[in-house]
Amino acid sequence: MNWFKGTHPSRAEMRSELDAYLRVSHATKKHVARTKELLEDLWKQARSRPFVDVWPHLDALDDVSPKGTIKGAAIKSAFRHRILSRQDNRCCYCRRWLVNTAYAKPIEHVLPRGHYPQFSIEFWNMAVSCNDCNSAKTDKVWGSISKTSRRYPRAEEFTDSFHPRFHRYDDHVRFLRMETNSQTVTLFTGLTPQGRHLCRSLLHQVAAKETLIENNPVVAEAMKEIRTFEAKAGSVILTRFDAFRAALDQSLERLIK
Ligand SMILES: [Zn+2]
Repeated sequence: MNWFKGTHPSRAEMRSELDAYLRVSHATKKHVARTKELLEDLWKQARSRPFVDVWPHLDALDDVSPKGTIKGAAIKSAFRHRILSRQDNRCCYCRRWLVNTAYAKPIEHVLPRGHYPQFSIEFWNMAVSCNDCNSAKTDKVWGSISKTSRRYPRAEEFTDSFHPRFHRYDDHVRFLRMETNSQTVTLFTGLTPQGRHLCRSLLHQVAAKETLIENNPVVAEAMKEIRTFEAKAGSVILTRFDAFRAALDQSLERLIK
């Protein structure tokens, strides 16, 4: 990501980044203006006290007007497309490639929705991750950011946790991925307090899981099938499959702890 010049994005850079996104917030041009209104409405709902997690509202969104229908899935898809290009098509945490691979690409809430519902549709709070990072991070409190504020924290306030939209990855984390005919190992090193926090709380676990899976041919083959299925399903909500995936993740995590 190199859309900002300094250590953090400036206010002016953030404004122009948000404007650029809003211009492509729907793949169909005639729906862009209405999409902006719908997003602003959800944004206000999320921040009204008591705070509301509006992410499921976006999933259910089906806005019919004389110009046509706008679905929440289309808004998510346009967001994913825009942000992935800003992330060089890689996972925002582990930097695995997310194009031309069978990895699903969930939209990741940097400050988790469970703890920060007021930011459930906040532009700066969303990034795109791989499924492994997304499921390993869920519901963990991310740093020491206030849970009661209506204002999204400024970039400078993320002093003890890594923020994929506000920090430049290369300033904070270095990784080395080694692959041989039959083995894959990834080593992550944190270069700053934020990078070390990311390694401790997420990346070391993701790397251990990758080693466990990729170095066992039977498990590797099974996971490949699962990932292909997930990527094909896209944003379709598959309750039972998701429950199975969560149980599988939990048992793999138990093995590496
Ligand atoms: Zn990842």
